[in-house]
Amino acid sequence: FKGRAWEMKKVRTTCPYCGVGCQMWLHVKGGRIVKVTGVEEGAPNHGRLCVKGRFGYDFIYSEDRLKTPLIKSNDGFREASWDEALDLVASRLKKIIAKHGPDSVAGVSSARSINEDSYQMQKLFRTAIGTNNIDNCARVCHAPTVAGLAKSFGSGAMTNSFDDFANAKMILAIGTNATEAHPVAGTYLKNAVAKGAELIVVDPRRIELADHAVLHAQIKVGSDIAFLNGVMNVLINENLHDKQYVASYTDGFESLKAKVMEYPPEKAAGICGVSAEMIRDVARRLASVKPALLVYTLGITEHTCGMNNVLSCANLQMLLGNVGFACGGVNPIRGQNNVQGACDMGALPNLFPGYQRVDDPKAQEKFKAAWNVASLPDRPGIMLPQMLDGLADGKIKAFYIFGENLANSEPDIKHVEHCLSSAEFLICQDNFPNETTRFADVILPAAAWSENDGTFASSERRISRVRTASEAPGISRPNWWIFKEIARRMGQDWKSESGQELWDDEISVLSPPFAGIKYSRIEGDGLQWPVPTETHPGTPVMHKDGKFTGGRGQFVAVDWTPPKEVPDAEYPFTFCTGRRLYHYHTRTQTGRCQGLNELLGEETADISRLDAAELGIEDGEYIRVRSRRGEVKVKARVTDRMQKGNVWMAFHFREACANWLTNPVFDPVTQTAEYKACAVKVEKIV
Ligand code: SF4
Repeated sequence: FKGRAWEMKKVRTTCPYCGVGCQMWLHVKGGRIVKVTGVEEGAPNHGRLCVKGRFGYDFIYSEDRLKTPLIKSNDGFREASWDEALDLVASRLKKIIAKHGPDSVAGVSSARSINEDSYQMQKLFRTAIGTNNIDNCARVCHAPTVAGLAKSFGSGAMTNSFDDFANAKMILAIGTNATEAHPVAGTYLKNAVAKGAELIVVDPRRIELADHAVLHAQIKVGSDIAFLNGVMNVLINENLHDKQYVASYTDGFESLKAKVMEYPPEKAAGICGVSAEMIRDVARRLASVKPALLVYTLGITEHTCGMNNVLSCANLQMLLGNVGFACGGVNPIRGQNNVQGACDMGALPNLFPGYQRVDDPKAQEKFKAAWNVASLPDRPGIMLPQMLDGLADGKIKAFYIFGENLANSEPDIKHVEHCLSSAEFLICQDNFPNETTRFADVILPAAAWSENDGTFASSERRISRVRTASEAPGISRPNWWIFKEIARRMGQDWKSESGQELWDDEISVLSPPFAGIKYSRIEGDGLQWPVPTETHPGTPVMHKDGKFTGGRGQFVAVDWTPPKEVPDAEYPFTFCTGRRLYHYHTRTQTGRCQGLNELLGEETADISRLDAAELGIEDGEYIRVRSRRGEVKVKARVTDRMQKGNVWMAFHFREACANWLTNPVFDPVTQTAEYKACAVKVEKIV
């Protein structure tokens, strides 16, 4: 870039990509961002940025940006004024509510947008529409974390901080490809190894992190519980567990013990495909260093047993006495930049902001008074997969999608598109047209990440500032303003006029975990909740010294269950999905960043050398991958990192999107889909 230092303005903000929440300087010249650098003195990244954070900002200047409201017309969409579009949204919603009731409306908030936007959307749904049918994309990733860790510890969030990753002495990384999905966190894990820590990787693929590990347990897809129960069997049988911690701080040990006794190492090994000796080795190593830090991501949660997988991770760490200490704990890294925040803000069907239950009479009274309404819905609403099915079966008439591209991100694209096309009235609010907006009746153009003042919450529960550095194009407006204007047309009179007013005067006042956080306190580094008072320093480590949020830690014994669809004669391969370093979600942003597209412009299907040889497939050759839901034509990537019998793809690219193949089956409690396992066949294209 060209520019002299005195022509530059530097704006501190938070990365718009993954849940690490890196702090960055936007270098702005003439109102345009020209460079991004890391904030050296800032947590959590201390100057580091990955390729997405450093180079993935030019999407905001894309010609594709939505610049004006659009209303469906016979031959596509026509431009409209804000008044016309918002009047239409409000009047159609009012008519649908009058005819079918408030629960015929459902909405999904954005896990990429600022906290203040999610707060406004859930408030619109609860006050003006009168339903709890509000969800966010945590449903497709970490809902099992929220529910599972809440059950085990009393709070469904990452227990520790990213700084602990670099300082831990023993690390168990299970179902997490941190070097690609959360790259700066991945560098910390490698730093820990360089300083002498032992890293144990549990993953069906030989991911890059495994190259740094003392052990790589290359388990079968979906066998985590068998593996962990086997490890806990060894810990208890060899008397290696922390008896004093278990007795002092936890409940349910006897039932856990009875369950894991059903998983001797030989049996566990038979299920998960590693040796019994490996399972013993993992158990003994974990018990040899205290505390050990456990980190996981979607390899744990995106299964029909996702919540049980999370419970199993929590069981292991409590058994080892590792929860409540620096460099220990259970650490799920969130995928999208503000998926933690979307949950924190109550964009969930059962919770008000700050994790207060919608069916708790005290919370009801508090929010009714604060929001100046006579009543609020007190029955939990439905979750995202139920919303989509509700569209198809006619129970949901109006659907409001804010900043999500469900037509690519949900399992079984054909089914999802059928659901979206069944909506009586579909509202999309976004920065760009995408595969989902094709189905919209109204498209509302929103200001993007660098065009807003607000906050994100990262995986480590850190609330950090997001700041305006450039102007929104056309007449696009902040999301919180759009929700407020719809609410006004539906009879609500909301006062707050900025991100700061929303946070300082409403969110922090109504939500005990954030009570002590005000904008004035997070000008530099953010604060990690819970922050109960304005003098509280924040909470880098939760459940300190065994004092769990929920009182005592709860062991919940769980059995291994296989994926719902396993290979058979017709579909002989196990299909698994994930993320790649250079792209993010469905590429609505990174797909519009020239440099990132040059680094990775096409999806591949990763297969093992043995399978490639058997099928006569060369590296780089196009193949067809089919499941019972659909098929994709995709380049083969032949690699030593894959186990025989497995195929792996990401969902970033539309044509070769993993979600043409994935199976729409769900964790029964949290409704998170089994993105990580289904059965496919692989065909050479002749
Ligand atoms: Fe952004 Fe995540 Fe990369 Fe940090 S690690 S720069 S938060 S994408």
